[in-house]
Amino acid sequence: RKAGAERRKSVESKPIDIKITHPDRVVYPDDSYTKQDVVDYYTSIMKWFLPGVVDRPTSVIRCPEGTAKACFFQKHLIPGLKQVGSVTMKEESGARATYIYSRDAGSVIELVQFGVLEFHPWGSTIEQPDLANQLVFDLDPGDDVAWPRVVAAARLMHKLLAQLGLASFLRTTGGKGLHVVVPLNPGCAWAQVKDFAHAFAATVVQAHPLEFIATATKAQRSGKIYIDYLRNSRGATSVASYSLRARSGAPVAVPLRWSELGKLKSGHDFDIRSTPRRLARLRSDPWAGIDDVRQDLGAIIGKLR
Ligand code: ATP
Ligand code: MN
Ligand code: MN
Repeated sequence: RKAGAERRKSVESKPIDIKITHPDRVVYPDDSYTKQDVVDYYTSIMKWFLPGVVDRPTSVIRCPEGTAKACFFQKHLIPGLKQVGSVTMKEESGARATYIYSRDAGSVIELVQFGVLEFHPWGSTIEQPDLANQLVFDLDPGDDVAWPRVVAAARLMHKLLAQLGLASFLRTTGGKGLHVVVPLNPGCAWAQVKDFAHAFAATVVQAHPLEFIATATKAQRSGKIYIDYLRNSRGATSVASYSLRARSGAPVAVPLRWSELGKLKSGHDFDIRSTPRRLARLRSDPWAGIDDVRQDLGAIIGKLR
């Protein structure tokens, strides 16, 4: 198999051959966006979207009758898929399960044809599912947290990670918060990633106890920013960069430069319309260089203790 950029190029240039049924079906009723609008969105941003999903086991959110009806968070194979990859692996519980992954644009559009709106990849690939190649700190503002505090929180995480020698990258979620993504190369065993994520979150909470919380009990989160470090284990997922969200307004999870953080107004500043416009205007990838970052956690966990 081809590696890296070469493979990405051949993956992108393959023509899409998927028949879309019910293209006029309205899937975002508040905004009148149709299934064809969703197809057109993913097609137009495909070269930006693929690097974040190709060859990663991926859970999807399917809304076959649109976002006003039932949506399903689906971890496993959907019968009938032809262009989507599948891989059978051991579950966390020890049982075997079949996961899906996108190979190319055809896979993505086939999933959209099957009603998928959101893509949630693992932090590892089908080749090395036991080695994380990214870590995600999911910043979830509780009720009564004003947006500038979320901005400050992300900025602080960025700074503290940099002090440990770790480069990190910023993404809106298309929802309420932000993700701070740490690429890992070489890949890192999930146990170590989990330990680091927990220890780092605990350190931040200890230093800023009024601002942050890292325990999962919902009641205590009000007025604080929950650092959801639990996104970091084998089989856990986070929303893909450039994925749509199945929420009113058709918001999108969008990678940003750190220098753009200050002008953000929310975690859902970008949507199905504004995201392609943003990408058409960009001179370079806001996450440029992420594939060249070489960093792992081995030497760093000790620094936190
Ligand atoms: P927000 O900024 O609104 O928090 P988010 O994408 O970070 O958006 P979270 O609720 O914090 O949303 O969830 C974090 C991640 O957990 C999701 O992106 C998703 O990948 C994953 N997840 C795990 N199980 C589910 C589920 N049943 N339904 C939805 N997401 C799930
Ligand atoms: Mn979140
Ligand atoms: Mn969360």
